[in-house]
Amino acid sequence: MRWENLTVDSGESGGHGRAADTALFGADAVVSRTFDTPEFRGITFHEVRARSVLNRVPGASRMPFEWTVNPYRGCSHACVYCFARKTHSYLDLDTGIGFDTQIVVKVNAPEVLRRQLASRRWQGDHVAMGTNVDCYQRAEGRYRLMPGIISALTKHANPFSILTKGTLILRDLDLLVRAAAVTDVGISVSVGFTDTELWRTVEPGTPAPERRLDVVRTLGEQGIGCGVLMAPVIPFLSDDPAQLRATVRAIAAAGATSVTPLVLHLRPGAREWFMAWLGRHHPHLVRRYERLYAEGAYAPKWYQRRITRQVHELAQEYGIGPTRAGAARRIRPAGAPPAAEPADVSEPTQLTLL
Ligand code: SF4
Repeated sequence: MRWENLTVDSGESGGHGRAADTALFGADAVVSRTFDTPEFRGITFHEVRARSVLNRVPGASRMPFEWTVNPYRGCSHACVYCFARKTHSYLDLDTGIGFDTQIVVKVNAPEVLRRQLASRRWQGDHVAMGTNVDCYQRAEGRYRLMPGIISALTKHANPFSILTKGTLILRDLDLLVRAAAVTDVGISVSVGFTDTELWRTVEPGTPAPERRLDVVRTLGEQGIGCGVLMAPVIPFLSDDPAQLRATVRAIAAAGATSVTPLVLHLRPGAREWFMAWLGRHHPHLVRRYERLYAEGAYAPKWYQRRITRQVHELAQEYGIGPTRAGAARRIRPAGAPPAAEPADVSEPTQLTLL
C-alpha cells in the first residue's frame, strides 16, 4: 500500500477523538487522530480510505496464500522483532517507535471488501489476515473493522484465515463460528514462548502468552480448532530445552491442534531495532547474535533444523495434533497445509512473526 492508493477520510471521530497533525502526509492524504484513553495514550491513528483492500502477494513470495487483507499498518503490539517494521518506511514513517505508535487505519475496509468480493472478477480464493500486522491489535477495539470483514467473507462463503496475538478475536467468536459453517476458516494464535519476563520486554504491547493460550482453549471449547505458531523462538533467550518443553507443554494443555515453530529472523528494519534492544537488555549476547546472523536475516539452517526437530518431538510427546478431541473438521491453522503433521518449517517463511 502506498499513500497514493488512499484518499482522505471525511468522517468525524466520536468519543475522545480529535483531529491531529495532518501535515505529516500532506493535508489531503489522511485524517490523524489521537484518543485520551489510557489504552491509546501516545498512539496516533491515521484514518484513510482505501480504494482496494484485497492485496495480491507477489508471485516470488513463498507465502502459502495469494491474497491478503490488512486493515491496519503499524502495530501497537510493539514486538521488538517484528519484521513488518520495514513496511512503515514505505510510508515515510519511522520503523522503530513510529511503527508502534503511528497506526494507519483503513476505515472503509469492510465496505471496500464487500464490493470487491461481489465483483465478477473475484475467483473466491483464500484470503489470509494477520500476515503483515495484527488485525486484532488494540485499534480494532475502537474501529471494529473485523466484524464487517468476517461478515463479508461469510456472505460469499469465501475461505479465510487469521493469525493473531490479540485476545480481542474472542469478541468475534460468534461470527467465526457462523463463517466456519459455510466455508474453510483457519485460526492460528502466535505464542513463541511462555517466559513472562521475556514477554514484558520483547512483546510489550501484546496480551500475555497465558492469555493468548486462553484464546486457543476457548476456541477449542467452542469447537473451533486453533493452531499455534510458536514464533519466534529467540536464540539464547527462549531456546533452552527446558523452555521449549514448557512452551510446548502449555500449548498442548491449551488444546492446540498443531504447533509450528519458527526461529527469529532479523531483516532490515527489525534487525536494527532488535539489536538495540538486545544491547540494552542482554548486552552479553550481542556478539553471539552477530555471529549467528552473520550470513543475513536468518539463523543458520542447522540451528533452525535443531529447533524444529526438538519442537516436533515435544509435540509428539504431548500429543498435539488435529486428531485431538475438540479439533474442528472445517477449520485448520492459518496458512497451514491440511495435513495431519505440523508444517515443516526447516525452511524459513516470510510470515510476520505475529
Ligand atoms: S509481530 Fe505481529 S503482533 Fe507483534 S508487532 Fe508485529 S504485527 Fe504486531
